[in-house]
Amino acid sequence: MAFREQPSVKHLDKKYLVENFQYNPKNDTYLCPQGQLLKTNGSWYKKSHRSEKRKTGGTTRVKHYKTPFCQMCPVLNQCTKNTEGRGRVIERNENQDAVDRNNFRIKTQRELYNRRQQICEHTFGTIKRQWGFTYTLLKGLQKVDGEMGIIFICYNLRRTISIVGVKKLLKKLKKWKPDYKNMLNQGGKILFLKKSDTMRGVVAPVNFSYRLAA
Ligand code: SF4
Repeated sequence: MAFREQPSVKHLDKKYLVENFQYNPKNDTYLCPQGQLLKTNGSWYKKSHRSEKRKTGGTTRVKHYKTPFCQMCPVLNQCTKNTEGRGRVIERNENQDAVDRNNFRIKTQRELYNRRQQICEHTFGTIKRQWGFTYTLLKGLQKVDGEMGIIFICYNLRRTISIVGVKKLLKKLKKWKPDYKNMLNQGGKILFLKKSDTMRGVVAPVNFSYRLAA
């Protein structure tokens, strides 16, 4: 999961960004920088993350947290724009615990996160943003596994070609003698492609078998 530092918000003093509100999982409350408890009524509200431009995103559920003390707060206009209405409202996503754990790991292991960005993220950037595979055509773990396998074979071929070139790749493939039996014993999967296999117009230019990472 990628991490984004909370951007500064134009109308908010930095001191009153949500990261400076302490969440208490026991009571399911937030403590604001002025020492007031923000409580929830326990209801879940649907929130859409759909981006019409990218045709991605779905719906998650959030809870709202607020306190009646906002109206008497001396820093109300530094904390929220909603000075006439309910005061400050904190929105907590149903997946916030996982997001927090992920953010903690990234903040405390920056080097590992930078390596992950260099090694993995551009792959998904190319596949999703440049090639447009922002969703799968098939459903079910096994079928999606196969669909993703074909996409990654195409990616691996293109990447290898751009690094070593077609001639060198073909030379290496001619010498390649994979030990399929051993791969299967180690829990690997083998995907067999025929010459006619296609993926949304991308022809997999292969007539031999590839091993997919398990
Ligand atoms: S406006 Fe409300 S939430 Fe913000 S600091 Fe004041 S009491 Fe706390």
